[in-house]
Amino acid sequence: MRILFMASEAYPFIKTGGLADVAGSLPYALKKLDIDIRLFMPAYKGIKDKVKDLKKPIYFKNPLAVSETSLIPCMHPELDLPMYLLDAPDLFDRKGTPYGDETGAEWVDNDLRFALFCRIGALIGLSGDMMGFQPDLIHCNDWQTGLTPALLHQWGGHNIPSLFTIHNLEYQGNFSGWNRERLGISGEQFSMNGLEFHGQISYIKAGIRFSDHITTVSPTYAKEILEPQFGAGLDGLLTSRKNHLSGILNGIDVEQWNPMTDSHITTPYNQDNIIAKKHTKKSLLTEYHMQKEITKPLIGIVSRLIPQKGLDLVLEAAEEIIAKGMNFFILGSGEHVLEQGFENLAQKYPKNVYFYKGYNEDLAHKIIAASDFILVPSRFEPCGLTQIFAMRYGCLPIVRHTGGLADTVTDYSVRGEGTGVVFGYASKDDIIHACGRAFKLFENRRLFNDIRKRAMGKDFSWGNSAKSWKALYQKLIHQK
Ligand code: ADP
Repeated sequence: MRILFMASEAYPFIKTGGLADVAGSLPYALKKLDIDIRLFMPAYKGIKDKVKDLKKPIYFKNPLAVSETSLIPCMHPELDLPMYLLDAPDLFDRKGTPYGDETGAEWVDNDLRFALFCRIGALIGLSGDMMGFQPDLIHCNDWQTGLTPALLHQWGGHNIPSLFTIHNLEYQGNFSGWNRERLGISGEQFSMNGLEFHGQISYIKAGIRFSDHITTVSPTYAKEILEPQFGAGLDGLLTSRKNHLSGILNGIDVEQWNPMTDSHITTPYNQDNIIAKKHTKKSLLTEYHMQKEITKPLIGIVSRLIPQKGLDLVLEAAEEIIAKGMNFFILGSGEHVLEQGFENLAQKYPKNVYFYKGYNEDLAHKIIAASDFILVPSRFEPCGLTQIFAMRYGCLPIVRHTGGLADTVTDYSVRGEGTGVVFGYASKDDIIHACGRAFKLFENRRLFNDIRKRAMGKDFSWGNSAKSWKALYQKLIHQK
């Protein structure tokens, strides 16, 4: 079975969120199941230096009038995983994130950048890589890959199935229609029954409408997006395709996230030696001058600061939670009002709150290892990975019952069941109440340790999910 796996970001090359974690670990889990899978991503600035065994580029003749476009076959630097880089320096060799410049402003030509990525993906689907690799299926991820299924459909006369995975329905890749011809989209497809969405070209709609099957990154999110509340305007289309929609829960890279071998933390520990976790708390609090607070429960937050994550409610609830005797360590960046809000909170309560503004992989590991709880009060959450990392590190999640949070965390009981604290509504009061329950749990040392051990013992590796992916690939290939 040969699969082309397309993603606009992948750890360890470039990462803005959970998509990169998935694209950085799922393909290799599938490779281990004897699938010839190849990761395809754009050659952003510096990526060519991070891969190995670069082969001679395969040049394309100015597709979409973009000069110097080539495909570079190469290998992952650490894993036995073949990759392709789309090298189009005019579009991708820029400082910043995959989607915008260093100030956070989105690139104005994102429509063209990802139209080219999708086009080359579809071309590989149709004619192979010219070096003997002909995929049996293309696995597309998020809006940046949404035009690939549409192009395969538009070009017709082929039997390459495409699978479209939604990691977050809110990010849609909607662009003005004026550039349609330049983007290589047919007039026929630019219609309500095609990829047109409120007068715009919608890359995510293209993926949903034209792929052979759609998945989301958790079973609960697959159901939620059929409702207007979570459907982001696409619930009608998704409902019409619900027989071709399913959810497969994300796994995590259990090597990268392993408290026994994690090079970011001072003291290794595991389920049998959970007592050693306190050293990681001491070392983080000492480094950030909060060591006097070691006996109080520490709530960690590692997140993009955006409305989806419900952190505005945490700002409203924080003073009452601090008054209960809990402290916060927050790592995140994003919307200015939220950054400002956490900065103000940390200034007002310097002993109880530390806010680190920015993106910091090393600190993310340290916080998750050091904290007693991780708070993820999302309004919606397609899967969520931080709560999974946290459980593996014996840091209990306090989460809202939605999407992948509902599929991964079960509420604790005094009988010793569960793996965290789960609450129902995205409200200040529910967050305060949930933190109160967490505080009680923390005070009941024996129960706290039992629940932590249970959380650490859960299997969140790709094992089972990878088998589901393989079965789905097989089904789609045979159906075509
Ligand atoms: P999303 O994809 O919506 O951001 P996920 O929970 O699926 O949410 O994945 C987020 C990923 O990004 C996790 O690996 C998390 O640890 C990481 N992350 C988020 N914010 C930061 C940050 N400020 N610094 C380091 N890592 C972060």
